[in-house]
Amino acid sequence: MPDAVDLEVVRQMLPETPYGKGVREIKAPMVLDINSCEGMLVRNPQDTAEWGIFYNGKANPERQRFTIAHELGHFILHRDQRQSFNCDKESVYSGADTIRVIEREADDFASNLLMPGDLLREWISNQRIDLHFLSALAKRFQVSFEALCIRFIKFTTQRAILVYWDNGFVKYEWRSSSAVKTRARIRRTDDPQEPLPGTLAADSTVEQEWDGTEMSAAIWCPEEAPHMKLREFKHSYTTGDRVLTLLLLESAEPRSWDRSWQDGESFDSFDQFVSNGQLPVR
Ligand SMILES: [Zn+2]
Repeated sequence: MPDAVDLEVVRQMLPETPYGKGVREIKAPMVLDINSCEGMLVRNPQDTAEWGIFYNGKANPERQRFTIAHELGHFILHRDQRQSFNCDKESVYSGADTIRVIEREADDFASNLLMPGDLLREWISNQRIDLHFLSALAKRFQVSFEALCIRFIKFTTQRAILVYWDNGFVKYEWRSSSAVKTRARIRRTDDPQEPLPGTLAADSTVEQEWDGTEMSAAIWCPEEAPHMKLREFKHSYTTGDRVLTLLLLESAEPRSWDRSWQDGESFDSFDQFVSNGQLPVR
């Protein structure tokens, strides 16, 4: 298997490629001392052929790496629009519309650069998926576990749902395309949503379940047939109150009475990041 992408090589070579037209140099990434900011891309006001990247030195190495890839995304995609980009993690959800769009684009660029889809697809095909395996993949790509899991959901052919809990409430939920096509959906109760009774997510005595526990799919997804099973995985972070839930459902045929997935609706329009209190209503 190839090694993780070397961002230093990408940074140094970019100005010599068509993507770096008019630019002489992107300076080596520098640590940023502003807490409110995850990263920045700035054009040198004294020398417009030079750009600089800054990153939050207190973030973990995987986050720093993602941030630098994100700023390289702004460089390639957006540098004609602005002289500087101030990025924080939340602006993907909460920024003004135009900011949200370019932040999302830079995030997508970073994900594609760090976790190329064709590689990922190859690595996850014909594999028994559990959190041990996904964690090993994250290490291989040198990305965070969370970023890898989101990427897995995007590329897996299995029916899969990923839920990110923040202080006991859903912060976001992603569904794989086959989960969307078969209308696998989590039961909605409260707003903001809390873990459902009978699930590992609701069981505070279980912090980690990396091998997965099999259960009836209907515990999570009420529209699933009674014989359907799923495996629930759980990862609790050591810091704070953050939990990741991964659900892998048994395969099912797309439901023919639901044509919406054939109408050109993209994966993203179904499964946007949702912030607290804004669960998608469909
Ligand atoms: Zn940004």
